[in-house]
This record gives sequence, C-alpha cells and structure tokens, in this order.
Amino acid sequence: MTSSLATVSYIGATILFILSLGGLSNPETARRGNFFGVIGMTLAVLATVFGPRVGVAGIPYIVGALIVGGAIGLYAAKTVQMTQMPELVALMHSLVGLAACLVGFASYIDTSTVFPTAAEKSIHEVEIYVGILIGAVTFSGSIIAFGKLSGKIGGKPLLLPGRHWLNLAGLLIVIWFGRVFLNAHDIQSGMLPLLVMTVIALHFGIHMVMAIGGADMPVVVSMLNSYSGWAAAATGFMLSNDLLIVVGALVGSSGAILSYIMCRAMNRNFLSVIAGGFGTGGGAPAAAGGAAQPAGEVSPILAAETAELLRESKNVIIVPGYGMAVAQAQHTVFEITKHLREKGVNVRFGIHPVAGRMPGHMNVLLAEAKVPYDIVLEMDEINADFPDTDVAMVIGANDIVNPAAQDDPTSPIAGMPVLEVWKAKTSIVMKRSMASGYAGVDNPLFYKDNNRMLFGDAKKMLDEVLAALRA
Ligand code: NDP
Repeated sequence: MTSSLATVSYIGATILFILSLGGLSNPETARRGNFFGVIGMTLAVLATVFGPRVGVAGIPYIVGALIVGGAIGLYAAKTVQMTQMPELVALMHSLVGLAACLVGFASYIDTSTVFPTAAEKSIHEVEIYVGILIGAVTFSGSIIAFGKLSGKIGGKPLLLPGRHWLNLAGLLIVIWFGRVFLNAHDIQSGMLPLLVMTVIALHFGIHMVMAIGGADMPVVVSMLNSYSGWAAAATGFMLSNDLLIVVGALVGSSGAILSYIMCRAMNRNFLSVIAGGFGTGGGAPAAAGGAAQPAGEVSPILAAETAELLRESKNVIIVPGYGMAVAQAQHTVFEITKHLREKGVNVRFGIHPVAGRMPGHMNVLLAEAKVPYDIVLEMDEINADFPDTDVAMVIGANDIVNPAAQDDPTSPIAGMPVLEVWKAKTSIVMKRSMASGYAGVDNPLFYKDNNRMLFGDAKKMLDEVLAALRA
C-alpha cells in the first residue's frame, strides 16, 4: 500500500471513529455507532499492517499476534457475563497502559531511528518518558480497579497517613529523574531513571485507586478510560502514528467528559474524588458479600400482592439496579411492562447515572430486552414525578434509592442525588436479603411505612409477579 493510500485510509478511519462516538451517545443510534467503529478499526488495522512502515518481514509476526489476540478476545466476549463487563473493561484498559510502557521501552532501546537534530531527539525522549508514565499509572490503576469491581479487593478506601505528601514526593522524584533521563548520554545511563520513574508511576496508580471508596468507583472507571486514551495517544507520538494520536485523543477526551458527567451525577468534585476517601462507611462491595446491620422493622410483600398493587395502579415507575443485571431479569421486566401498558397503566423507567456497575449499564440491558426508549427516562427527567406515582418498583437497586444521601450528612454517600422512590404512594424493593449495596451503607428506605420488601431473586420474583398478573 502506498503512503498516500495509507494516509487516506487513516483519514477515513478517523471520520468513522468520530461518527462511532457520535452514534454511541444515544441508545437509538448506538448499534450504528458500533458498526462505524468496527469498520473504522478494520480499515485502520489494514492500513497499518499493509502500509509503508511495516515491511513484508514483519507481517507474519503481526498476523500471529492478531490470531492470538483475536482468539482471546473472542473467547472472552463469548464467556464473560454481562455483570462481569465492567471488570473486563478495566482489564482491557490495563492492557492499553501495558502496551504504552512496552512501546516506550522498545522505542528507547531501538537505535535504528536517526534524529537529524538534538532537539528532535529530546522531543522523542520526552514522548517516551511521558508515555511510559501515563501507561504505568493506567496499567496498575486498572488492575486495582479490576480487583475492586470484581470484589476481589474490598471497596473500603485505603487511606495512608500523609498520602497527599507521598503523592507529591513521588511527583517531584519523577520530575527530577526526568531531567536525569533527558541528560543521559547513552541508553545504559538513561535506563535507570526510566525504570525508577516506572516503579513510582506503578505505585502511584495502585495508591490512587486504592484510596478511592466504593461509591466513587464509577468516576474511577471513566477516568481510567480517559487515561487509556491518553496512553494510546502517547504511544502514537512514540511511534509517529497520526491515527493513534487522534484516536487516543478521542478516547481520552470522551473519557474525561464521561468522568465529568459521572462527577456531576454524584454531586462530587473531580479533584476530591481523586484525593480519595469517599465511601468510607464500612462494608465491602456487594459483590464481596458486604452487609450493613439492619436498623429497623421491614414490611415484606408477596409476589401476588405486588401484582395486585400494580394492576390497580395508574402510574408505575420501575427503577432497575445492579441486581436486575445479576438476575438477568430484564426480559421479564419487559413482559410485565408490556402487560401493564396493554391494560392502560402508564409504566416508565427511572435510570440513575451510576446504576449497575458501568455507565449506561441499565440502558444496555433494557435495550436488549426491547423496552421502548421513550419510556426510559434519566433521573433528572423523572424525579419530580414520584409524588404522582402509585407504585415505584425497585428491582435490585440499593445505593441509588437511598434517602440517607439527602437526609444524613454523615452518610458516606451524603450529597449524591438519588431517585426519590419513597415519595411514591407505595415503593416495593425487590432484593434477596437486607444486604447493603456497593457503597456498603444501610438503606433507611427499607424501613419506611410506605415501603414493602419483596425478598428473593429478581428474576424468580418477577416471573411470579408476571404469572399473577396474567392469571
Ligand atoms: P447496589 O450495588 O447499590 O445494589 C444492588 C442490590 O442488588 C444489592 O443490594 C443486592 O441485594 C441486590 N441484588 C443482587 N443480586 C440480586 C438478585 N439476583 N436479585 C435481586 N436483587 C439482587 O446497586 P445500584 O445499581 O443501586 O447502585 C450502583 C452502585 O454501584 C453505586 O454505589 C455506584 O456508585 C456503584 N458503581 C457504579 C458503577 C457505574 O459505572 N455504574 C461502577 C462501579 C460502582 P441482595 O444481595 O440483598 O440481593
């Protein structure tokens, strides 16, 4: 492939990636967005492999790597459960970071490139230093995020004494060694500062994510998404690959925008999230089996009684959460919605921005079950409607409907906007036990007079509700 054809392909791929991001911003166009992304990536890989920079001798290695990587990706896509997607995404971010580190070290020891001026050589070395720095933070931070999301590491923040000073000291050492690295006369003497910086960056990544409490994890996930983009852009600079720079910048900036949206959704300041400590209220993530002590009496309800309440309602709001994803109950939710709508009940969905375990988690599940988009509303669009609602049905959600966020300034989730389901005439919470949610805090909603608890697996309970509705 000639160099001009490769350039045209790169421009085509860039446009497709932009269209892809545009499409992914709305559930109705997401499928088309994904399709654009697949075509763009295929074009990008083909233009790179057959482009002017890869010699014929390199092709067998690339094809070998594509087969191995493709096989692992295919296996993961086929076997990973929907509820494991967030941790898979975190693991994938870690690979982007690792790739940036490896490319950085390889570029540094590669002596085949001759730089015409000392300034160009220095610029290349700055790219390597910064690229490895971002890559190492992304790599170790994403591994810890993987551990936290999968429940292998507890959700409680690790708050080392003087942690901000530790981070500052690390930053100063990294800057100092950066100077030593740029002044090194040969590869051997430059390797030590590079390795020291890498070790500090790896520790910083671990420390940064360990210090973040369970309830702040959505921001961390989107932040690492952004970092992985910047790591890819840094790799693009090291390899002088324009497409990688553009795509990395697209991912980096869209991840940064997502982090901002997540912070706003949780009423949090980005810097205070990074500083850590939110969600200290004891207990591990639900995935690790955390449970707060129940603090009152609850009123249980049966599936048949739930069906009766729904049948008599005019307005129903369904609030899905992580438990709906675990139980894979979205299809039954759709059947119940269809049945009630046919009987003239106004059924709508209230979606909290951090419901589930990844951005857009609930929207994806509901779209998969073919729930019409126009009855799926964001928290801000529906929160004012709860007082006019007969039944608010909470399916496997907990933190996102916790009134303590509004009423208890000492709560670890104080200040986080929540769906005000308790303002409905009756709220029904569907979950298996009194266990706490991801943030590990007790939920006063369960003890309110107008709340009923439908205990059991969400899928099993909803099947019973549906059967009772149809009876
Ligand atoms: P929560 O984790 O607060 O609560 C989920 C509830 O579902 C649990 O209390 C659990 O109770 C119940 N549950 C689990 N399995 C089942 C089942 N099979 N059937 C019925 N119920 C079940 O989830 P929310 O969606 O309310 O809130 C999301 C939380 O996750 C927030 O704290 C958010 O900050 C955090 N988070 C969000 C991310 C995102 O990007 N969206 C990323 C990382 C974290 P029980 O065990 O009793 O059944």
